[in-house]
Amino acid sequence: MNNPLFNADFINEIRYDKSCNYGINGRSNHALHIVTRDKNYKTENQNFNFIFSTENDLEIYYRQYYSIIPNLLTYATAIIDKLIFSFIENDQSINRKILKDFRRTLAMVFSLEYTAKGERKDNPFFDMIKGLLTLECPNCNYSASVEQADCELFLQTELFLCPKCLNNILDDDSIKVIGKLFVKS
Ligand SMILES: [Zn+2]
Repeated sequence: MNNPLFNADFINEIRYDKSCNYGINGRSNHALHIVTRDKNYKTENQNFNFIFSTENDLEIYYRQYYSIIPNLLTYATAIIDKLIFSFIENDQSINRKILKDFRRTLAMVFSLEYTAKGERKDNPFFDMIKGLLTLECPNCNYSASVEQADCELFLQTELFLCPKCLNNILDDDSIKVIGKLFVKS
């Protein structure tokens, strides 16, 4: 599967490439074997994998794990959805797929929002969303442009709330708008 969110070479690199030092292959082999001989992640002399890790080492392991694993899990869910939804073809399932794809996109964008030091950065993606995505409330007809806080709420709850009447804006029409703008079919 290759789409703007997932590059097949990158996914392969972070999961399987033995020479990729930021990937998960070497680290998971250290976790599974007390001694490893591969030249890319060979156990040092008079050492065992992870046995004598310091607090500093653990910090590096955690940082690497939490920056790589979400990519792989998100990719895995995208594959599973692609397969499952290929067996279910109706309006309801198409809408469901759009919402799940969009939610996954937002999850990736939010995960990139934090630098390695955990500081939040400005993300131009949300300026783009604000400019592109306007949803009309089916209850009061208010046209709401979608902002970062709306995306955060959607990520957590799958709701877009109308800022005027606080009803959920998502109906068939607004889901179609999201699908057209952000989801590759
Ligand atoms: Zn409204």
